[in-house]
Amino acid sequence: MLKIALPNKGRLADEVRSTLADAGLDVRAASERSLTASLGGEFAALFVRAEDIPAFVADGAADAGITGWDLVQESGRELEDLLDLGFGRCRLSVAMLKPPPGAPAPRLEDIPDGARVGTKFGRLAEGYFAKLGRSIKVVHLSGAAEVAPHLGIADVIVDLVSSGSTLRVNGLVEVATIVESSARLVSRPRSVVGEETAKHLSELALALESVVRARGQRYLMANAPREALGAVREILPGIAGPTVIDVTSDAGAMVAVHAVVAQSAVYRTIARLKEAGCSGILVTRIERLTP
Ligand code: AMP
Repeated sequence: MLKIALPNKGRLADEVRSTLADAGLDVRAASERSLTASLGGEFAALFVRAEDIPAFVADGAADAGITGWDLVQESGRELEDLLDLGFGRCRLSVAMLKPPPGAPAPRLEDIPDGARVGTKFGRLAEGYFAKLGRSIKVVHLSGAAEVAPHLGIADVIVDLVSSGSTLRVNGLVEVATIVESSARLVSRPRSVVGEETAKHLSELALALESVVRARGQRYLMANAPREALGAVREILPGIAGPTVIDVTSDAGAMVAVHAVVAQSAVYRTIARLKEAGCSGILVTRIERLTP
């Protein structure tokens, strides 16, 4: 049985569960508060705090884990990054108080030696400033770092940012990015997990990857006049070009074309196919996509 440590709550919890479910690994928990649950097959889930996951995996309490890359980096533990799940995107940034109107924009270089840096990411903050040859004083905060400069308990902060609106609302400006983050599937290094576990983990990564890849794609089917095939091929490059199927009932005048299309391109693709004389255009979601 392979144990996978998953966030029990917080920003990543729901999307981690739905991604696993789409890969066929449904959480079968006895109750909402269960600490463990079967995921079917040879996998079991262990629900813990997102920030504890790197240590659980590194110490072997779980064979793999899904958590934010920022938390993996902050842990300082040696873990293998098996898959970027593509959600939970954010960046760990240095932010400073917005200057009064007319004053020059604050810069990273303006942060003096000995500055107090409010953060929950003490290790990454210290490491970042040390690399710049600067010594800072970390003020450990477990949340709401953005209020610290206003309360006078920190001069700058190091915090996670996604849209930037929380910083803006709190009168702060970003001056540097320390780490770009997203949710990752991690394990101990392949060399220490053993062959059997490594094989199961590769299969898990492959299954999750097929779900992640399918999310931004749609499957499109259309009937096209045979003489328009050249134009249709240009409109539908697909993964390996569209699949073209003869429609026998039409004496060869029409063909059916199937292709995978980026979700963002579906709208324009339909319009162009119509222009090329296509009809019966059907677009569906894809559950999994493995090239
Ligand atoms: P939490 O909700 O505090 O459990 O956050 C868990 C993880 O969600 C963080 O460590 C990040 O990897 C990720 N995350 C994604 N976007 C954000 C954001 N805007 N602010 C904080 N965390 C984020």
